This record gives sequence, C-alpha cells and structure tokens, in this order.
Amino acid sequence: MRVVRVVGYHKNLELAEAPEPQITSALDVIVKIGAAGVCRTDIHIIEGQWADKSNVTLPYTIGHENAGWVHAKGEGVTNVEVGDKVILHPLVTTFPGINVDGGYAEYLKTGARSVIKLDPKLEPTDVAALADAGLTAYHAVAKAARKLRPGDFCVMIGAGGLGHIGIQVLKAISGATLIVIDRNPDALKLAKGLGADHTIEGSEDGAFVQKVLDLTGGKGAEAIIDFVAEGGSTKTGVKMIRRAGDYYIVGYGEEIQVPTIDIISTEINFIGNLVGSYNDLTELMVLAAQGKVKLHTSIYKLEDFQKAIDDLSAGKVRGRAILVP
Ligand SMILES: [Zn+2]
Repeated sequence: MRVVRVVGYHKNLELAEAPEPQITSALDVIVKIGAAGVCRTDIHIIEGQWADKSNVTLPYTIGHENAGWVHAKGEGVTNVEVGDKVILHPLVTTFPGINVDGGYAEYLKTGARSVIKLDPKLEPTDVAALADAGLTAYHAVAKAARKLRPGDFCVMIGAGGLGHIGIQVLKAISGATLIVIDRNPDALKLAKGLGADHTIEGSEDGAFVQKVLDLTGGKGAEAIIDFVAEGGSTKTGVKMIRRAGDYYIVGYGEEIQVPTIDIISTEINFIGNLVGSYNDLTELMVLAAQGKVKLHTSIYKLEDFQKAIDDLSAGKVRGRAILVP
C-alpha cells in the first residue's frame, strides 16, 4: 500500500510502499482510510518538536486524524462490522501518527476501543479532522456547558480551527450567551454566521475587556474558554472572569500571571483541557449527524501531501485540509 512517511526531521515527507497491516490480536481493527486530516501538529512533528516526546523510530507513517471503513477485524471485536464507516479516537494505548504508523496511508491498524461507528449520513471526509481538533474543542466546551445556565455568559477567545467548532458546540448544547473575541475580522464574520451572540475585535490595548464588562453588567463572564493562550491573551482574559467563574485553557504557550490574593478573594478557577475522551467523540459525532457541527474542508489526494503541508504552513487552507487515498 501507499504511505506517506516521516524519513527525518527538518526533511520533507516521502511517499513509499509498505506492507498492509495484518490482524495479530483478537481486538485489532484494520481501517481502510477514507480521509486523514492534515494538522499543525504534523508540521511540528516534521520540525522535530515531538522527537523527544514520542520517541518514534523513523521512518514511520504520519497522520492522526482518521476516518474510513472497517476492512478487517479480530475475532474479539463486537462493536463494529467489516464495511462500517468509522471515525478513530486518536489515542489507542499508542497514538497512531505520533508514535506508531498513522493514517497518511491506505490502511491503518487500530483497536476495537478506538473505533466509533458513524451515522450513515456522515462520510469520512466530513469528520476525519474532528478526531483531534474538533474533539479537543468539544471536550472543553462540554465541560463548561455542564455548569453554564441560560442567561450566563461564555467568552471564547479565538475563532480559528478549534474556536469555530467550539462556537457550534456551545450553541448546540447550552443556553448561555456567547461572546467571541478574535483579532481577525473574517474570523468574527464566520463566528457570527455560526451563531455567536456577540463578536468583539481583539486588540493589543485590551480595549475589548471593557466591552465584555459592559455586555455582562460589569460582572464578567461565568466562563472564559481560551483557545489561544499566547500573545498576552490570558493577561486580558482573566480580567473578564466573573467572581467564582472558570477559565478554561485549551491553547498553550504563555504563562498565567495572576496574584494569588486575586484568586482567593474571587474564588476563580483555572481548568486545563487535553484532547477528549471516547465518549466526547461519540457525542460530537451525534452533533455532526444532526447537522449541528460542520467542518469546512479542503480535499487533497494522498500523493499531493506536500501541497497540503505547504498550504497549511502558508495559511492558505480554508477550514481543515484532508488527505484522501
Ligand atoms: Zn491534529
């Protein structure tokens, strides 16, 4: 089969031939790949940023956002049948595409506990990229939505790849009023179209903080979901939390600097979020089947992987790039 492999760090990926994976244990599932999302993490892998974390042996097949059809299964697999359309939770006990062979390929081996059967209405190309970016956004927003009541306020910082999913999820499962902040006017236009109640342009001077306070009667929002956490976003973000409110951190890069007396006197909470569970992905697939969460995708053939990577690096991809074998 054809595969796209990492052959060395700071080197271009290469197309190669590899043997098809085989069933070797009772709970193995082999998936015929229908679509593999191209993620910024893939670029970070090529740059070597994951080398010490994943300890993978090169060369290996990249691609961690995968969907397709069940091609073969071990004798102990009961949750899917051969031919079923499935999306793959990114984590098995390994992380295909990060530390074992992934989905920039025609076939991928995973386990019964990582496959989720898709609604017949959904196609692998519609959902593959929800396996990571969408799952991460869902996990954080669903956590916030469990506490938010109708009439409460939620502020989302960043309306890009994760944020545009987060907006759709919050509007689908919560009655809270949603305020979205982004520095890019086009991203705000998209946010409004996806159901944001208020959009505010971000700025270096932090003038948007006052606008949030005005919208919330001077109190701030019950939840802040920060998809950025870089470039000073947490510094202004903490000024928008209501007393006893929650600050959900999804993006990462900078340090949060808040005097501890401010934390105790207001009883605010800081909450970390990392990818999401199997149940999170199952619930996200329900919203996708109901048409409540949609992903904009740009489709590339597997052999055009370099163009997909280059377009992503250059910021030329609308929505998410998808490789189709
Ligand atoms: Zn990803």
